[in-house]
Amino acid sequence: MKQKEIDPYISLICTHCDFYKEDDLLLECAAFKVLKNMLQDGRIKPEEISDVFR
Ligand code: SF4
Repeated sequence: MKQKEIDPYISLICTHCDFYKEDDLLLECAAFKVLKNMLQDGRIKPEEISDVFR
């Protein structure tokens, strides 16, 4: 069976969050929306998010 593809923003941001649940992907908190918007606008890079969790 093919594994379900995960939204790259969820993978980058939410999978590090204590509230993350694989089966509950419809709700988006304010922090997620802000970070997603900043990523889409190019104001921050995906690597900068990854670096925070190192
Ligand atoms: S939307 Fe927000 S609260 Fe929910 S898992 Fe992502 S970062 Fe965490």
